[in-house]
Amino acid sequence: MVESPVVQDTNMERILAFYVKWCSTIKKEHFLLHSAPNTASIAWLTLVEGQGPRAVYSTHQDIFSVSCNLPGANPLKLKAARTRHEFLMKVLAPRILPPAPRFRKLQSDGSLCFVDWGHCAETLAILCVYLEVPPERRMQGLAINTQQIAQAPSFHSDLVRKSKKEMCDNCKMLMQVAQIAYEDRYNAMRAEEDKIKEKREKDAKDKEKRAKERKEMEERRTNEKIRAAQERRAKELEEKEKLRQEKARADEKDRQARQRREAAEREAKQRRDDEKHRKSNRR
Ligand SMILES: [Zn+2]
Repeated sequence: MVESPVVQDTNMERILAFYVKWCSTIKKEHFLLHSAPNTASIAWLTLVEGQGPRAVYSTHQDIFSVSCNLPGANPLKLKAARTRHEFLMKVLAPRILPPAPRFRKLQSDGSLCFVDWGHCAETLAILCVYLEVPPERRMQGLAINTQQIAQAPSFHSDLVRKSKKEMCDNCKMLMQVAQIAYEDRYNAMRAEEDKIKEKREKDAKDKEKRAKERKEMEERRTNEKIRAAQERRAKELEEKEKLRQEKARADEKDRQARQRREAAEREAKQRRDDEKHRKSNRR
């Protein structure tokens, strides 16, 4: 457990990740044969809205605490969990802790879960912050799985967020009994993720809609072009037909004029022939 004065919310993920690294290093150096903590948590206090600046300068100004859970049957760990439990009962008195919700709880695979008071990472952080909490303060916190962060070569906010864990039933009950206004950052992070996901889905849908509209517009334009070309072609054919008919009419007129001329010539020739004939008959 580490306690420190004055920190910014933005640093909480970094501090928690650093603490996980610290736990992992200590384990490798001194507790090689024991189970490593698989959960670590950080809790911090925030001023409630409308609170006067006096509180900021009080001895209770922003503090955070970090701690880890105590997995495995190491007698020292069991003793530490018992000490946490005893201390919790002491500070919460006259309120009484009911049996831990996760203790002797049947799991979906038929096994029993034996997580008693004092085991959780949050227990110690909550306890230490609780001791410092004046009634007008609110508390926020975040628990994470340690595995990936313990192995990561450097700090990544994304990895902390990916490793987040919702407060367990024991801790929720503990908050109720301690009457702490607690905000689990897990919920806020989930809400943020849902919002981002929703936005991403909306953007994808909008993009799809825009692409569809673009495609439809292109199709409309292509169809308009085709229609215009067809109309142009039809007009050309109409013009051509008109010219053809005009030419046919002119040809017909020429033909008729030629016929008339030929008939007149034939008639004139006939007349000349007849005249010649008459003249020869008279002779
Ligand atoms: Zn818990």
